[in-house]
Amino acid sequence: MTNDHSGGAPLIDTSLPHSARMYDYWLGGSNNFAADRAMGQAIEQAIPGIKAMAMENRKFLGRAVRHMAGEAGIRQFLDIGTGIPADGDTASVAALVAPDSRVVCVDNDPIVQAHARDVLNGRPGAGRTVYLEADLREPAEILGSPLLKDTIDLGQPVGLLLVAILMLVKDEQDPWGAVGAFLDAMPSGSHVAISHPTQDFDPEAMAEVTRAAEQGRMTLVPRDRSQVLRFFADWEIISPGLVPVMAWRPEAPLTEDERSAYYWAAVARKP
Ligand code: SAH
Repeated sequence: MTNDHSGGAPLIDTSLPHSARMYDYWLGGSNNFAADRAMGQAIEQAIPGIKAMAMENRKFLGRAVRHMAGEAGIRQFLDIGTGIPADGDTASVAALVAPDSRVVCVDNDPIVQAHARDVLNGRPGAGRTVYLEADLREPAEILGSPLLKDTIDLGQPVGLLLVAILMLVKDEQDPWGAVGAFLDAMPSGSHVAISHPTQDFDPEAMAEVTRAAEQGRMTLVPRDRSQVLRFFADWEIISPGLVPVMAWRPEAPLTEDERSAYYWAAVARKP
């Protein structure tokens, strides 16, 4: 993937599938290309409910942000792996609950940057949303960036979102170390929301997804419950715990079917 930092239009490689655009395809968006749709469909063959799952994941993100901006009173958010801006994303939900929210959106995909520049900058609201093109695997760069420092006061509680992104980082790239660096940089009262695909519910379907991803030269690492729990370090996981994504404070009672998801999800608070 090539990024253009010279200020011109970002270069976008459309020949390989990319998670942001594949996710956009599942959500019914129009910012995706043939390779993204092919990979999205291959994964759909293994998990026919994947589109619904992507939507459920987005809804979890919304419920988590509503909790943080509402009950927890958080006014500044760091959303890592923002994806292509759309209704129901971190910045739009935070702005509804607390219009004075400040949001730093981070993504490493040039197509996200291209959309973010137009959409986020044009959104009304008393708060401020900024976009930073950076990589989760380089927490020091993100935490030390002037844009972040101008937007977020690391002396006040932060709402950190790592929703459907950590599966895109391999174990050997130490996603736990990267997440730990973010958690360490935040003060008491901060919250983190994480969702993560897992093989715990349907190992065969997930193995097929991983195979399809490998064939498309895409990283997708499902993780089991204990591996996902490790991301939260010693932060207190709030009720109802680490649960299937749909079961995190659902707005309507769940049917039996909906209880088995392919994602774990939780929100934790720094003591
Ligand atoms: N968080 C959103 C979107 C998830 S899609 C949601 O749950 O609704 C995953 C996003 O993470 C994509 O936009 C992809 O470009 C981004 N991403 C993948 N690897 C990344 C990395 N190493 N650093 C920053 N962003 C990354």
